[in-house]
Amino acid sequence: MATNGDSNAEQTTRHQEVGHKSLLQSDALYQYILETSVYPREPESMKELREATAKHPWNIMTTSADEGQFLNMLLKLINAKNTMEIGVFTGYSLLATALALPDDGKILAMDINRENYDIGRPIIEKAGVAHKIDFREGPALPVLDQMIEDGKYHGTFDFVFVDADKDNYINYHKRIIDLVKVGGLIGYDNTLWNGSVVAPPDAPMRKYVRYYRDFVLELNKALAADPRIEICMLPVGDGITLCRRVS
Ligand code: SAM
Ligand code: CA
Repeated sequence: MATNGDSNAEQTTRHQEVGHKSLLQSDALYQYILETSVYPREPESMKELREATAKHPWNIMTTSADEGQFLNMLLKLINAKNTMEIGVFTGYSLLATALALPDDGKILAMDINRENYDIGRPIIEKAGVAHKIDFREGPALPVLDQMIEDGKYHGTFDFVFVDADKDNYINYHKRIIDLVKVGGLIGYDNTLWNGSVVAPPDAPMRKYVRYYRDFVLELNKALAADPRIEICMLPVGDGITLCRRVS
């Protein structure tokens, strides 16, 4: 059992590394993945968007390139056509999705901030996939409520990617579970929350990490106990929990 002083010191060091785009034990290993299998196959438009986003002061929020590659393949594997994304930022995961969908595929994309989306939009347009995107500026919850009320959207989504305000994930789940089809998939992003889900209470943590941590812990418990879904928590990016609706 790892209870000695060295291991505690190691843990502290790891928690000071909050903000890394991977939870892998070594940066070199992560770099190996990126350089060997991700960057050489990254579409030119995604590279351009990644580089434009890197200049943004909040670049930490972007989806990592390896997760983008994962989402793109996942969407093709499930033959997704009708999808939703909550939390767009500059649009890296949105572009990964748009490139994976067939030409008549659709993405309902929501974000409270349009300015950041405007950074990615010209690149998405140039890539020829903007016609698949219905971007709505504003909070996602009222849009979900409206769709539930309308009735005609129940069980219509093949895939929903949730990557926005972590304190609302439970509220999103309550609605999305009706909107996604049986056999469809929901991806909740950042469910390992910079590794803070296992941090001791006195571990050094950025304020926002500490604030949202309890919500992420609650979500993870709720998803594990929800009989309407099968789940799989993957250590890709900052952790993504895939939920397959079964009833
Ligand atoms: N998926 C994005 C990407 O690949 O770059 C990253 C999304 S970023 C982590 C979170 C986004 O959620 C921010 O752009 C923020 O404006 C948005 N957001 C926060 N609260 C929201 C809400 N209530 N409804 C919709 N979007 C929200
Ligand atoms: Ca994320």
